[in-house]
Amino acid sequence: MILPDTVGTGGDSHTRFPMGISFPAGSGLVAFGAALGVMPLDMPESVLVRFKGKMQPGITLRDLVNAIPYAAIQKGLMTVEKKGKKNVFNGRVLEIEGLPDLKVEQAFELSDASAERSANGCTVHLNKEPIIEYINSNITLLKWMISNGYEDARTIERRITAMEKWLENPELLAPDADAEYAEIIEIDLNEVKEPLLACPNDPDDIKPLSEVAGDKIDEVFIGSCMTNIGHYRAAGKVLEKTTSLPTRMWIVPPTKMDERELMQEGYYNIFGRAGARTEVPGCSLCMGNQARVADNATVVSTSTRNFPNRLGNGANVYLASAELSAVAATLGRLPTVEEYLEGVKEIEPLASDIYRYLNFHLLPEYKEVADEVKVSIS
Ligand code: SF4
Repeated sequence: MILPDTVGTGGDSHTRFPMGISFPAGSGLVAFGAALGVMPLDMPESVLVRFKGKMQPGITLRDLVNAIPYAAIQKGLMTVEKKGKKNVFNGRVLEIEGLPDLKVEQAFELSDASAERSANGCTVHLNKEPIIEYINSNITLLKWMISNGYEDARTIERRITAMEKWLENPELLAPDADAEYAEIIEIDLNEVKEPLLACPNDPDDIKPLSEVAGDKIDEVFIGSCMTNIGHYRAAGKVLEKTTSLPTRMWIVPPTKMDERELMQEGYYNIFGRAGARTEVPGCSLCMGNQARVADNATVVSTSTRNFPNRLGNGANVYLASAELSAVAATLGRLPTVEEYLEGVKEIEPLASDIYRYLNFHLLPEYKEVADEVKVSIS
């Protein structure tokens, strides 16, 4: 429901916005903000992460999420060791530039992970086009929600009106040309040549795949707020010819809408045939208090964080892309870089179809319902 200039807050550390900015806070402050529409905030300094160059074959956005702490470690701005830990992002705003054509869903993958960096907030510099597309999609979804009885209809209507107003004159905030940053970290995409994983059990302990290839994997989890529908299509493509898995694999799309679409597109047949277990959409294993992996399992997961015992007692958890997770699920171990590239080779030629997001304004089943909804709040 957000707009590009929305400033928000929320009581979960993953209350992160893909546009605008949010400052997650304790529940007392969040209640204060909700009641008064303002909250006390000492504006933190920013750390600028600037991507440049060209994304290399087989590299995913999750690898770029992991490239941020990896680059900071290499620049001496972050340490993995808990004792005397250094973290340049801690308490600051993480500003990300250089990937302006990402879809808003993809930008969320970057901003969501700013919680793992202990950043206070995160902004992702996007072009207008993906934002206009996203807002048009959301207007249709919100109207569909009103039609389906979601409450409070007046609140939803007010948001639709605000979105329509923004679309009439779509202006984005931009940094000042002479803005100063606590640090500037440049990441050359030409140099990110292999997947990057967060290793057990610290989201900052980033290593290239070649350093951990071969580690035995017991369970694989593709789910959490770090995923979107494209990840499940990509995993489906990797699993397409698989009829049994040497691992226990969990597939849990974040929303019911994703689940429905994936079913209609036949991906659930692929997951079922491979022997993956599909669960009710939501946080699932990431929450750590619903399902759990087996005690002491070694896991590859797409979830947000791999703190000790979060996914299961004594679990050793790697955080990686859905694509790498799916390849590991088929092998029962972390692949070599060559095995990984072989495993994902069917994805690239179909990328525009696989990484296609839920544009509700282009889906007749949502649009036809939404077109019947008249918004009366102006
Ligand atoms: S998926 Fe995990 S990180 Fe995301 S909201 Fe749920 S529990 Fe929190």
